[in-house]
Order: sequence, then structure tokens, then C-alpha cells
Amino acid sequence: MIPFNKSTPVGREIEFVTEAIKSGQTAGNGPYSKKCISFFEQRYGFKKCLLTTSCTDALEMSAVLLNLRPGDEVIVPAFTFVSTANAFKLHGAKIVFADSKVNSPNIDPEDIKRKITSRTRAICIVHYAGVACDMDEILNICRDNNITLIEDAAQAIESFYKGKPLGSFGDFATFSFHETKNISSGEGGMLVVNNSEYFERSEIIWEKGTNRAAFKRGDVQKYECVDVGASYLMSELNAAFLFGQLEKIEEITSRRREVCKRYQELLSQDPRYRNNLGEIGNGHIFHILSVNRNKIIKDLKSNGINASFHYLSLETSPYYNQQLTCYNAKKYENEILRLPVYYSITNKDIETVVNNIVAID
Ligand SMILES: *Cc1c(COP(=O)(O)O)cnc(C)c1O
Repeated sequence: MIPFNKSTPVGREIEFVTEAIKSGQTAGNGPYSKKCISFFEQRYGFKKCLLTTSCTDALEMSAVLLNLRPGDEVIVPAFTFVSTANAFKLHGAKIVFADSKVNSPNIDPEDIKRKITSRTRAICIVHYAGVACDMDEILNICRDNNITLIEDAAQAIESFYKGKPLGSFGDFATFSFHETKNISSGEGGMLVVNNSEYFERSEIIWEKGTNRAAFKRGDVQKYECVDVGASYLMSELNAAFLFGQLEKIEEITSRRREVCKRYQELLSQDPRYRNNLGEIGNGHIFHILSVNRNKIIKDLKSNGINASFHYLSLETSPYYNQQLTCYNAKKYENEILRLPVYYSITNKDIETVVNNIVAID
């Protein structure tokens, strides 16, 4: 059996979680949370990082920070995980879907331009597979139209655009440390706030609508209810797990990239796939495109290999049920096939996967 994904400890995760339990500091924002935060600040230059229970919650926090009014529109890609849209919908936005590019599942800046109206408040982009969106164009669009930018960087830790880390471009960025992501804490996420106008309020919303964080720093005499908010803090147990993974981020990322490169080398020998291979990014996902995708999944499965389709376009989902405008997203819905990628997959398993794919007619 070759699984699609496998989560394994790679460093001192167990030691750190044990240490956190023994220390008695198990709630949020403790010593391990602080270690993780300084890691992110030092490595990527992020100005304000708030560890959260999930990327979904970090997206919701950015929706709360936008202070949406009825009729405000948020543009999101049609080809993404539900949370990219639902987090903003839940907090009052009208969701407008933009298409993927012809040659990449990432959002098409030309379609963003077509979908902007006088009510557009924000754009939430997704760096699919940890491959950067067209940041120069997207930043120009946001600047020209005075629109807030959110990067759903759930898949994009340790990815860069022209040398600058993903997650450092938007007013906000969100990361996921879900079991299925490159770096995991079981469940977990992070909100990065790059726009200093939002520093103070982000911390308040994070602390359930109180100024508790300022109180703990000694900035205010007592803490009280000053805004809305919810329970968004990551537990110290998850932060301890996360820090164990972060210590190995270079090893994890480089192995995952190596796995993807191997798939790319082997599959480009087959003329059917040579021009239908995904880009590599941070090695989060390796995908191929095929009109026979469903048959390939079935055939691989019967040989003990789990490969997987990916998102169903949200535009035409039962809930949003909008008129089809995102044709490329539909193509990716039907044709993307993700191959097994994880830290501990062996080179022999990679070859087995490829040999099986190549043998299918
Ligand atoms: C995984 C993922 C999410 C959700 O992350 P959680 O931490 O599970 O909430 C959101 N957006 C994208 C693009 C993702 O890949």
C-alpha cells in the first residue's frame, strides 16, 4: 500500500509535547508558541504572527478585521478549499469567484480585473501547491483599486516569489498546520498581519475581544471587553508539536521537493504527461493533468496506490450554485491528479507509482 499522505514525527515533536505537558503551561501563547513565533519572524521577516487553531480560523479573523458591511464583495478563486470562501461569507461578504489561469490552478489576474466592482473590498488569493501567484500584477491591482489583499498561504510555508517569502505580500496572510500540510501540528494555523494598521485589533480579536495580550505585556492595568472576538489561540501542546517540525523545516521541504522532482523527471519521459505536469514550489503537491483522471485513480487504487483528485469548483458547488464563469477551474476540477508526496516516501515507491501510471492506456 502506498498512501497519499503520511504524517510522521521527524524531529523532537514527542519530546517537546511531553515537556509542555510536564511544565503545566498547556493553554495558548506560552513558551512554545513564542518559540514558533520568533522562528517565523526571524526566518521570514513577518511582523506580527498569531498562532491559531486552524487556517480556517485565521481566515475568519481576517474577515472580522475587514469590518465588512452588507453588499461588500470579496473575490476568491473558484478552485480552492471551502474555507477561502466560507470564512468571508460567514462574516457577511458577497463572494465573487475568479478563474484559474489556463496553465496553472492559481488565480488569473485578468479575471480578477474583470470581477472587480465598486463594492470589492478584498481579494483572497491562494498559492496552490505552494507555487506563487502572479504577485506583481496582483499587488498592482490591489493598489490601483484600493483593495485589501489576503494571502491564503495554507500550502505555502517556505515558498518564495522573487526571493520574498509568500505570506509577506498581503495585508494579512494565513497558514495551515493541518496534518496534510508540509509542516503540521495536527490541527493548527497562523494569521500573519503585515499591515501595521491592524496590529492592535488583530490581537484583540484573537483574545476573544479583550485587551488581555496588552495586559499581559503590562501595557494596560486591567483587561476588559473592547471588541468582538472568538477563541482562536493555538494550544501549547500543538505549538510544541509545531516547533518540533519547524526545527526540521529545511529537511522536510527539501525532501518533498526532491520527491516532486523525481516524479517530474520520470513522467516527462511519457509524451502524454510531458506538458501536463504541475510546478514544484515547496513540494506540497505534485500533480498531473489528464482527461482520464478518474480511470487512473481507479486503476492505481486496485494496485494499492492512493492518488487523489482535488477541489471541486466552489462557483458551481451546491451552496454557492452560481452561473459558470470559471472554466479553467472546472478543467482542474476534472483533470487534476495528485500523486503521493510525503517526507518518508521511498524512491522505490515513487518509481512504482510512475510505472503504474505509465502502464495505463
Ligand atoms: C488546508 C487549507 C485550508 C484550511 O486549513 P485548516 O488549517 O484545515 O483550516 C484553507 N485553504 C487552503 C488553500 C488549504 O489548502
